[in-house]
Amino acid sequence: MVLGLRSAIGSDVGRRRTSNQDSGATTGRLLVVADGMGGHAHGEVASAVTVSALTELDARLPRDLTDVDLAEEMSNALVAATDNLEQQALADPEMRGMGTTVVSLLLTGEHLALAHIGDSRIYRLRSGTLEQLTHDHTMVQQLVDEGQITAEEALVHPRRSVLMRALSTDHEPEPDLDRIPIEPGDRFLLCSDGVTAVLGDDALHAALGSEDDPSAVVSRLIELSNEGGGPDNITAVVADVVEIGDDESQTQHLRVAGAVAEGATSS
Ligand code: CA
Repeated sequence: MVLGLRSAIGSDVGRRRTSNQDSGATTGRLLVVADGMGGHAHGEVASAVTVSALTELDARLPRDLTDVDLAEEMSNALVAATDNLEQQALADPEMRGMGTTVVSLLLTGEHLALAHIGDSRIYRLRSGTLEQLTHDHTMVQQLVDEGQITAEEALVHPRRSVLMRALSTDHEPEPDLDRIPIEPGDRFLLCSDGVTAVLGDDALHAALGSEDDPSAVVSRLIELSNEGGGPDNITAVVADVVEIGDDESQTQHLRVAGAVAEGATSS
């Protein structure tokens, strides 16, 4: 059995922001979403550079990933993105302080390698059950973990957007790395907080289960996030694990969305 990904991607500025600082990309085996931060400090560059570092990694890796240490490769790609941003910030002080979240999955055999920094999220819908696979690197998540506030209080906390970890110019990236076993029928969602700030687990679950076609689900998520106020940039990747023929695995070409699609890899 050969497993592949049938995916769709979409990104939207939302209703309150004037520019889209999110970026995302998909190929036949790579899924990535990044949410750039720092309005004046070119968050769109941070997200575009980080997504590009991962799509370049995908292009460079061999077709057969069996013997490749993907956690190491993804980590290295994030270090390369940080170096690129540091160089740009040295040349242009306005870019100091820019940063981005990143969530990414890379398919190998019957697993997905996962990398995660920040508060973008990855969910898996399997046999009707929705599970969040990433743990937010936020101050409010830490307060929830320590029992100081409840998950409900976190949703409306005034400092809910404060990140404890991000990919930025002032330190080495510290990604959470994992390896997720997959089965045909699994559906994955990668999204920025423009989706999850508006849609709770029940709404996400309903939207993910509402359509067969991943691109219809992406459109639905963007529509619902905007109907809920569209407070932030909205980016979603939906991918189904499917059985494919031996030669089919890399037939899906690169698709990009958001700032990286606008060529925002430098200011
Ligand atoms: Ca955001």
